[in-house]
Amino acid sequence: MDISIIGTGYVGLVTGVGLAEKGNRVICMDMIKEKVDIINSGKSPIYEKGLNELLEKNIGKNLVATTDLRNAVLNSDVTFICVGTPSKRDGSLDLSSVKNASKGIGKILSEKDSYHVVVVKSTVLPGTTEETVIPILEENSGKKFISDFGIAANPEFLREGIAVKDFLNPDRIIIGSLDKRSRRIIEQIYSNFKCPILRTDIKTAEMIKYAANSFLATKISFINEIGNMCKKLNINVYEVARGISLDHRVSPYFLNAGLGWGGSCFPKDLKALIYKAKKLGYEPFLLNAVFKVNEEQPQRLLDMAKRKIGSFKGKKIAVLGMAFKGGTDDVRDSPAFPVIEGLLREGANVTAYDPNAEDSAKEFFGDRIEYADSAENSLKDSDLALIVTDWEEFEELDFREMKNRIVIDARNIVKNRKGIDYEGLCW
Ligand code: NAD
Repeated sequence: MDISIIGTGYVGLVTGVGLAEKGNRVICMDMIKEKVDIINSGKSPIYEKGLNELLEKNIGKNLVATTDLRNAVLNSDVTFICVGTPSKRDGSLDLSSVKNASKGIGKILSEKDSYHVVVVKSTVLPGTTEETVIPILEENSGKKFISDFGIAANPEFLREGIAVKDFLNPDRIIIGSLDKRSRRIIEQIYSNFKCPILRTDIKTAEMIKYAANSFLATKISFINEIGNMCKKLNINVYEVARGISLDHRVSPYFLNAGLGWGGSCFPKDLKALIYKAKKLGYEPFLLNAVFKVNEEQPQRLLDMAKRKIGSFKGKKIAVLGMAFKGGTDDVRDSPAFPVIEGLLREGANVTAYDPNAEDSAKEFFGDRIEYADSAENSLKDSDLALIVTDWEEFEELDFREMKNRIVIDARNIVKNRKGIDYEGLCW
């Protein structure tokens, strides 16, 4: 199949590379020329395990990147919209990129004689594809949905850090469509994937994505709340989590108590669903609470740190990890950020280390903090170490160079606890 992908971020690039690997001819389009040039040179502009290897293997053969939308759409039968859908201040979705992409695709479709399917892979609230994307495509192409072009919603569930593996081996594929022709074309694209395919209407497919992320965030906030109580009762919440997850109705995943969830998806998706619920006249009590529990966790870490070392003023504090989770360079809505901000507000000297996210964090903190080139160097002469991201390399850290060997672990990652004053955030 000839496929074009609009947007080469975490989802777009992984989708493009993954579909090329599966034997399709793929054109990845992005408006940022630097990204396109890097991709065409066979390298990934983002860090994702295994992405460089697959990119290098496919680029110039059945994969190419371009800034030219016209070329991408005219030389493909299916176009995936994979642009960002960030939050606005009020929690609603900023759909400007989706609208721009739809407008551009619509204009080019007016020149195209053959049938074309547009697939919305970006996460959008239920109703967006039918109420926003289809009208924009029709208006700009002068064509009619179903008779002249097709539409499908195909939400993505990949996890950053293991995005390539997730894309190529998904738990399920959701195809939301209103017409057989579009559905069959998307089914064909996924015909060599080994997982259940669920066919729904478009709105249901859009809602499945929000329900999935809300449920996962709820699991984490739930175990964090249990963990916060366990801490006061001197109980290890990880044993409690194991105890409940042996019940076949509860899976063991997403029950790791700690600093909470962040990243480019959960916070914005929950905000958007809460916003939508309110617009519908429904007060989403549970989702509000899920958010509230999560927002409190960084402050809990700061309070614990203060109980350990008193005032932060002038103290050297090592922050281990800045990415929102291990395995990625993404710092969007990272729970590490409110922790660092809280330390800075009270006069701490922060030395942070992250194996992958230093460049992204620098754009935010600039020279307000020091950046160490290794975990050990961040620890040197420090009064306190805070483990905020679950990078595997933090498991066996050597804390001997610290001034005071006080370690608070917000991710239950440190294994080498000999000779240190160790405390877990909620265990
Ligand atoms: P991203 O910000 O990493 O990438 C978006 C890309 O789109 C950027 O490279 C940007 O330059 C490009 N772009 C924006 N407007 C464009 C336009 N009009 N034409 C061409 N390119 C354009 O975003 P992402 O993290 O890949 O997320 C994309 C969508 O997928 C979002 O809706 C997100 O919620 C959803 N999603 C993300 C993840 C994830 O883990 N990141 C997982 C599942 C779903």
